[in-house]
Amino acid sequence: MIEPKAELSVDFEIIQSNISYLKSLLREGAFMAIIKANAYGHSLEDFVKNLDDIVDGYGVVRLEEALAIRKNSVKPILLMQGLYNEEGFQIASKNNLSITIHHPSQLNLAKEFNSKLNLWIKFNTGMNRLGFEVDDSKKLIDFNQEENCLMSHLACADNPADEMNRNQFALFEKISESFNKTSKSILNSAGIIHFPEYSFDWVRCGIAMYGGVPNEYLKTAMTFRSKVISIRNLRKGERIGYGGRYIASEDKKIAVIYCGYADGYPQNALDGTKILINSHECSILGRVSMDLITADITELPNIKEGDWATLWSPENSINLVSNYNDLISYELMTKITNRVIKST
Ligand SMILES: *Cc1c(COP(=O)(O)O)cnc(C)c1O
Repeated sequence: MIEPKAELSVDFEIIQSNISYLKSLLREGAFMAIIKANAYGHSLEDFVKNLDDIVDGYGVVRLEEALAIRKNSVKPILLMQGLYNEEGFQIASKNNLSITIHHPSQLNLAKEFNSKLNLWIKFNTGMNRLGFEVDDSKKLIDFNQEENCLMSHLACADNPADEMNRNQFALFEKISESFNKTSKSILNSAGIIHFPEYSFDWVRCGIAMYGGVPNEYLKTAMTFRSKVISIRNLRKGERIGYGGRYIASEDKKIAVIYCGYADGYPQNALDGTKILINSHECSILGRVSMDLITADITELPNIKEGDWATLWSPENSINLVSNYNDLISYELMTKITNRVIKST
């Protein structure tokens, strides 16, 4: 028997069709693909090779990521958390990277390089993570130039009823009065879906491209799967796995799948989390261990050792797994570990 391994593959045609749908929502503006964290686990390099034609630019957080994109693309690249020293600014300038400015410690360098590269001036409009305050506008007025961009980030766009959204948009528009020459950008994925009227010049779209937002037009682009390596029968009253979390309420048949939290499957997945075996839906029973998952196949008599179990895929949305377990799809996508085989 060949040692089975958990596998990850990515369907870039699905990402392409997700992007087409998202673009169709925009009122105006350009589409920045956010591909930080190795394109949310989908491979930054493969993303750029497959999709460079259909996006208008890229957003990342690390300099290495930006330079890796630059090898395969001439499009705008934004470093969304900025750079902080002269060397970084020089490299950015040489490679035509745009830099986010959000902190007073960046101002001297930002002024020095203002004419040499595009700067994105980030304001805090309520998230209270990064960005200047509205009262800082006067100090930043040198940056009110056509090549630069005014940006902010939404904290609650996935909950459109939250009043935070309206407050953030109102404050952003107020700051925009002082930045009348720059481009503007505030929307992330959930913002594009719920507030497309604020598209402005750039939208910054990550998770929705990968299908990590519940929406009938968006599909999960990853297939994360592994094989059934053992099947066993359980008698009523017997328990499964660590802590014996699941106790059989009747006689059961269990498939043991060669994938665990060391592959990036969430350790805290609850009994009832859906997986597909040979396209049949079944449920996790018992705690996920480092290398193994146990699932209920009592009603699925034809499953054999060696069959594929799909943990998430276009047919088994990653959002079902994350929502059922009170997790976020972002974390599931970015936590798949190195030992998982990348297949095409
Ligand atoms: C990650 C990130 C985004 C993309 O967010 P999604 O919710 O994945 O669309 C946009 N803007 C900034 C500043 C980010 O850090």
